[in-house]
Amino acid sequence: MSEESAEPTVPNGLTLARDLEELTFSPGVGDALQAAPAPIGFVPTMGALHAGHAALIERAAEAMSRRKGGTVVVSIFVNPTQFGPGEDLDRYPRTLEADLRLCREAGADVVFAPSARTVYPDEHLHPGGIAASVRVGGPLTETLEGSHRPGHFDGVATVVLKLLNMVRPAVAFFGEKDWQQLAVVRTMANDLNLPYLIESVPTVRDADGLALSSRNRYLSPEQRAAAAELPAALFAARAAIAAGDAPAEVERALTDRLSAAGFAVDYAAVRCPTTLGPPPAKPPYTVRILVAAKLGGTRLIDNVAATRTA
Ligand code: AMP
Repeated sequence: MSEESAEPTVPNGLTLARDLEELTFSPGVGDALQAAPAPIGFVPTMGALHAGHAALIERAAEAMSRRKGGTVVVSIFVNPTQFGPGEDLDRYPRTLEADLRLCREAGADVVFAPSARTVYPDEHLHPGGIAASVRVGGPLTETLEGSHRPGHFDGVATVVLKLLNMVRPAVAFFGEKDWQQLAVVRTMANDLNLPYLIESVPTVRDADGLALSSRNRYLSPEQRAAAAELPAALFAARAAIAAGDAPAEVERALTDRLSAAGFAVDYAAVRCPTTLGPPPAKPPYTVRILVAAKLGGTRLIDNVAATRTA
């Protein structure tokens, strides 16, 4: 559904807000925005929601039910500034009506689904619609996704900061599925002393191990079957680290296995979980193993933790 099309059916008990005014005056949000800290649990998404998103919303609902009057807000916004030229912005799946049902079932109270104009209002004044932005610099945003998707994390950091400031939640929830994004958001929150807690939620996987992703729906049935090799290779890499294989060796084996299975590997890296720099030289250590690989035209990313005790 395009964002300009007719208003969708909104399930009972859910408020759909399409601009800042509607958000501010939606039940629970208006009052909460006056209070400090606002008892709002916030889950930012790009829509095309699946059980991974539902896990975030359920976690937010659980956290908010412990706070009197807590409200769960989910944003659905396909943010153009985090897509590069030639990426899938135009064909990114838009399934608002089904998303609203999933939000309600998972425990959301408000869905904030703004138009691009609401988020980037001043197109006539500034290219891109805003003049200010935020940037997390340094190696964290230059490596891995940062080196394959130039400008991606600038778009992510800016839209996340804007959404946080619009919703002003007590807690915002992000998935471990996008590990580097989580690290970038945490760094932004720490470095700029943002008054929002950032919580992470483990990756939800299909029965065969494939991490749920809105982009999985691009896969043909054959590609979907082949995609299970990605988590299988990651889990094998995790076992190899635990067994004492050197990170560089594990990276090589992971790349070779995925290439042999028909993936075009962007990176397969064993890294420090927080800086995403090289892992410690000597065990014991816990590392993050991160992969991005294309299967046909679909780019998949995934990651797991791995620990070597001695
Ligand atoms: P997206 O809609 O892809 O921007 O994702 C919105 C949020 O959901 C991000 O914090 C993601 O990390 C998280 N997420 C996406 N897929 C999963 C998954 N399979 N398990 C847990 N969280 C996820």
